[in-house]
Amino acid sequence: MNTTTGAKPHVLILGGGSVGLNAAHDLRAALGSEVAITIVDSRPYMTYQPFLPEVGAGSIDPRNVLAPLRKVLAGTKVVTGAVSAIRHADRTVVVTTDEDVTLEIAYDYLVVGLGSVPRLLPIPGLAEQAIGFKQVEEAVAVRDRILGNLAEAASTKDPAVRKRLLTFTFVGGGFAGGEAISEAEDMVRDALRYYPDLHASDIRFVLIDAAPFIFPEVSEEQRAYALNQLRERGVEVKLETFLNSCEGGVVKLSDGDEFETDLIVWNAGVKPAPILSDTEASDLPTIQERGPMGGRLAVLPDLRVKGDNGPIEGVFSAGDCAWVPDLASGEGKFCPPNAQHAVRQGKRVADNIARSIQGRPLVDYYHKNLGVLATLGMYKGVGYMMLGDKRIDIKGLPAWAAARAYHVYAMPTVGRKAAVVAGWVANAVSRRDIIGIPQSSTPRAAFELAANSGPKKK
Ligand SMILES: Cc1cc2nc3c(=O)[nH]c(=O)nc-3n(C[C@H](O)[C@H](O)[C@H](O)COP(=O)(O)OP(=O)(O)OC[C@H]3O[C@@H](n4cnc5c(N)ncnc54)[C@H](O)[C@@H]3O)c2cc1C
Repeated sequence: MNTTTGAKPHVLILGGGSVGLNAAHDLRAALGSEVAITIVDSRPYMTYQPFLPEVGAGSIDPRNVLAPLRKVLAGTKVVTGAVSAIRHADRTVVVTTDEDVTLEIAYDYLVVGLGSVPRLLPIPGLAEQAIGFKQVEEAVAVRDRILGNLAEAASTKDPAVRKRLLTFTFVGGGFAGGEAISEAEDMVRDALRYYPDLHASDIRFVLIDAAPFIFPEVSEEQRAYALNQLRERGVEVKLETFLNSCEGGVVKLSDGDEFETDLIVWNAGVKPAPILSDTEASDLPTIQERGPMGGRLAVLPDLRVKGDNGPIEGVFSAGDCAWVPDLASGEGKFCPPNAQHAVRQGKRVADNIARSIQGRPLVDYYHKNLGVLATLGMYKGVGYMMLGDKRIDIKGLPAWAAARAYHVYAMPTVGRKAAVVAGWVANAVSRRDIIGIPQSSTPRAAFELAANSGPKKK
């Protein structure tokens, strides 16, 4: 084939997440030095998102859910910067670094694995007051805020301040949101043993969801189990309820409830990476319809991006930003946005690019759902596993153990797997950490204070 960049075909991978990391890794394994690979991500690491609820609960050290791209992908060029334009007509992508340096990168093959971002609604105060839960920095900030607030509330006598500090609001009861609040509540209950001035009844966790249930992915019985779990632990689960406003940290709900809160975690859905639907930034076609497919790249079963007249040669997409036919589930079905699919789709993309370079026929993506599992705090979980075509519902300790075991298996790199397990063992021996470091977003504050204190020079 003709290449734009020299003798070797150049594969450019956008996004170093579940899709990108696996595509780059498997492509290198398949073709060795016969291919040049570049991967672009605004962060120098891949985040294993299924572990974020445990980061938010202080059960896993944040660094241990990250896979450094340069270390994992030896021989692949890693560019740290934001993809700011995709010009497929010129087979070029524009990347802007933090220092505002612009790079133009040409390619022969393009893999779009840019994932998704939170889907916000036009709710007054939401953009200013809430935080998402997709990045490790966000999970750390949630953990630090909750633990920091416990310390502050224990030291104040003002009942209104104390009430606000100890009210934690989560919006969205899907897997990510349900796990996030369950794990956080578990952490607080654990931490309270060190706060004789605080009582469990001082703490208010509120979970808001517009749907009549939480954990939509599991059976009705399983949903009821998860709901009871949370309610028994004192979490106020408000179903069929909407967040109407949260200006100034005052939550106003559709059921008439109104309260002050110091933390609003937004987990009410995701949408594909926004650059894809910005027609000034990208000339790849996205799905225009509203709904879960809107803004995604439609792909064929072999993961090539679909154009108006068939596949766009050399362009593949997968994961949360793609609308991928789910052949294993039947005609007209599409893969849900999850890591289980993203990892395997990344591997299929790598194999299909290798096949394309070698002139072999491409293979369709086919993966039978293995099930879903969520942890609800220490020793509690919910979900199901598929054994062949048989679905086995599990809950409680077995579900919790199975979820942890699966995610350790799926976490990239042996070193990180070992570190996660070692951290759990350490927590079991000496209990998890109860220190929140609210200053982590302003690390120079103490230094500046020192610089401005003391006698002033005349
Ligand atoms: C809290 C939480 C819990 C979850 N739990 C589970 C679970 O238990 N099981 C499961 O299967 N799935 C789970 N998921 C979903 C799963 O993590 C995602 O579906 C999966 O990571 C998608 O992979 P991806 O490669 O498409 O996107 P990502 O892994 O999100 O990777 C996209 C990458 O693109 C980068 N990027 C985006 N835009 C740009 C840009 N303009 N320039 C440069 N880089 C960019 C991002 O930095 C990111 O690294 C969970 C998700 C969350 C948030």
